[in-house]
Amino acid sequence: MDLSLFTALLVIFLISNFLLFALGGWWFFYHFLGPRIPHRAIHEKSPQKAQIIREIKNSISTQIIFFIMALGLYFLWKAGVTQIYTKWDERGIFYFLITFFLIQMAHDAWFYWTHRWMHEWKWLRKYHLAHHESQQPTPFASLSFHPVEAICHGLFWYIIAFLIPSHALWLWVFYSFMFYINMWGHTGFEFWHKDLLVKPIQKFLNTPTHHNLHHKYHNKNYGIYYNLWDKVCGTNHAKYEEEYRAIKAKTEAHKTSRIMKALGL
Ligand SMILES: [Zn+2]
Ligand SMILES: [Zn+2]
Repeated sequence: MDLSLFTALLVIFLISNFLLFALGGWWFFYHFLGPRIPHRAIHEKSPQKAQIIREIKNSISTQIIFFIMALGLYFLWKAGVTQIYTKWDERGIFYFLITFFLIQMAHDAWFYWTHRWMHEWKWLRKYHLAHHESQQPTPFASLSFHPVEAICHGLFWYIIAFLIPSHALWLWVFYSFMFYINMWGHTGFEFWHKDLLVKPIQKFLNTPTHHNLHHKYHNKNYGIYYNLWDKVCGTNHAKYEEEYRAIKAKTEAHKTSRIMKALGL
C-alpha cells in the first residue's frame, strides 16, 4: 500500500469511526432511544451544550494526533522494523484468530495502568483533567483527551506493532472495537443484566455504571473492558455494587409497573 492510499484510507477511517460511534452514539442514546428508556439512565441530569462542544473539540485534536502517529507507524512498517504482517497464513489461522484477544488483554492492562498513573502521579494528573471535565460524559467524551493523554493512548499501537506480531487488519479492527467499547462506557445508560456482578464469569466484564462512577468521583474504577485489574488491585469504587444495584432496581421497578399496567392492575 503506498502512502497516498494509506493516508486517504486513514482519513476516511478516522472520520467514519467518529461519525459512527461518537456522533451516532450521541444521536442514538440522547435523541432516539434514550428518551424512551429513562429507567436505564445513570446520569442525574442532561449534559450541557458547552460540555459537548468541548468534548468534540478535544476529540478532533485527539484524531489529528492519532492520524500523525498512524503515519509514523506506517513508515516504521514500510521500513520493516515492526512485527506487523499482511499475509493471512504467515503465522497460521489459529494465531491469526487469537491475536485479537491478545491485543485486547494487552490494551486492558495498558489502559488500566496508564489511567491509574494519570490519577496517582501528580505530574501526569494535569493531562488527564481534560477527560474529567465531563462529570456526566457522553459518547463524544470517548476521545476527549489532552494531547499528552492522546499520545499515551496512541503509543499502545506502537507497543503492539513491536511486541505482538499482528496482522495489519487487526490494528484497524481493534481501533473500531476500542472506540465502540469506549462509547458504551460513556453513554450514561446501563444495559447489563441485574445479576451481572454476582455471576461467576460475567462479573469480570466492565459496565457503563463502573466508568460513570469514575467520572463522578474522579478516583477508582480505572479499567476498560474487564473488571479484572480493578479487582486484583482492589481499586473498584466502594459504591460500585450499591450504585449498580440501585440502577437495576429502577429498571426492574419500571418493568414491573409495565406488566401491572398491561394486566390492568
Ligand atoms: Zn480518569
Ligand atoms: Zn471516561
